[in-house]
Amino acid sequence: MDNLHVRHHFPVFNKQNADMIYFDNAATTQKPRYVIDTISDYYVNHNFNVHRSVYSDAGETTARFEKARQHVAEFINAASPQQIVFTSGTTDSINLIANGYYANHLQAGDEIVVSIAEHHSNLLPWQRLAKKNGATLRFIPLTDDATLDLTAAKKIISDKTKLVAVTWVSNVLGDISPIADLTELAHQHGADILVDGAQAAPELPIDVEKIPMDWLAFSGHKMLAPTGIGILYGKTSLLENMNSPRLGGEMIESVSTTSYKPKELPYRLEAGTPNIEGVIGLDAALLYLEELEMPKVKTHCQKLGQYLYDELDQLDGVTVYGPKLRETGIVAFNVDGIHPHDAATFLDAKHIDVRAGQHCAEPLTHQLGVNATLRASLYIYNTRSECKRLVDSIKEMKEFFH
Ligand code: PLP
Repeated sequence: MDNLHVRHHFPVFNKQNADMIYFDNAATTQKPRYVIDTISDYYVNHNFNVHRSVYSDAGETTARFEKARQHVAEFINAASPQQIVFTSGTTDSINLIANGYYANHLQAGDEIVVSIAEHHSNLLPWQRLAKKNGATLRFIPLTDDATLDLTAAKKIISDKTKLVAVTWVSNVLGDISPIADLTELAHQHGADILVDGAQAAPELPIDVEKIPMDWLAFSGHKMLAPTGIGILYGKTSLLENMNSPRLGGEMIESVSTTSYKPKELPYRLEAGTPNIEGVIGLDAALLYLEELEMPKVKTHCQKLGQYLYDELDQLDGVTVYGPKLRETGIVAFNVDGIHPHDAATFLDAKHIDVRAGQHCAEPLTHQLGVNATLRASLYIYNTRSECKRLVDSIKEMKEFFH
């Protein structure tokens, strides 16, 4: 993949910002001109509400909206677009699954299994639901090299397990969880598996037929699409037994003064006017990624992540977290004696944007034995020379602070 060529597609890296190094892609990615233009064209030429009007302008926008749903289904190889529910993001998708399905399907004594590396979005909904329904939340630990411990998972997942909810790619450590093994394990025990794909969908090719997970959640804004659009994929049998916690327009077949009949899937789970701009922008983002080819995106992020990891690992007084063999473009580290927030402020002065903190994964941060880390998360437009500039700046920072 020619990532310098790719970089030209992103207006943010224009002349005024030419020296900016954007290494906070796990938080949100920059947007290519194609996505921005598609959204602008939608507002200029096609700004009509969907699913409700007979006039042809609205009909065209509805058709485009539904074509985007079909596109998402193809992107993850789902059997049907009816299995794609649009939400506002990964957090919203997981909350919808918790409140719309497991709230009514979790009994006292059931167990929910998560990993210690979960983003709070895939922890808090289960914490609350377990307490409410009398279920137990159990944690898969990490191995010594900070990857998900599959051997421990085999002991923890049992016939009591109702749901295994795990992140595919850790937003801190960047390692890939053994989702295929966990899916098989969950199903052997009659449990469902929910995969938090927030960091996986931007970098990995996804095939929900090949790995028959029950639920998958991801966010558009972490993969070149606008903010406020998310995806919930579910097995049809589960979606059919889900009740939308939100009720209102668009989702009903008929209403009387005392009751209502919901529409078919997926509309009955999408109450109210949807994020049309977001869906149309997501469609454009997926097309852009498909043209780059997801296997090439994966290789680029993995190679660049490995390069940065190795360069940082060679520096005295720098601790890099996670396995030495890198699988994605996410690298977390600390510099001895320098608080991550001070380090990030120093780097900011050089126009290098990295994240400092707990990255919404406080239990994992504590597991690493620290209060915070620095995180550089790389994507398609990042280059080796940018990684080199970060490493050189860290060398300079060490001299400055000591
Ligand atoms: N899960 C993981 C692994 C994440 O990295 C994030 C965001 O950083 C989320 C969930 C939540 O995503 P969103 O804020 O888009 O809902």
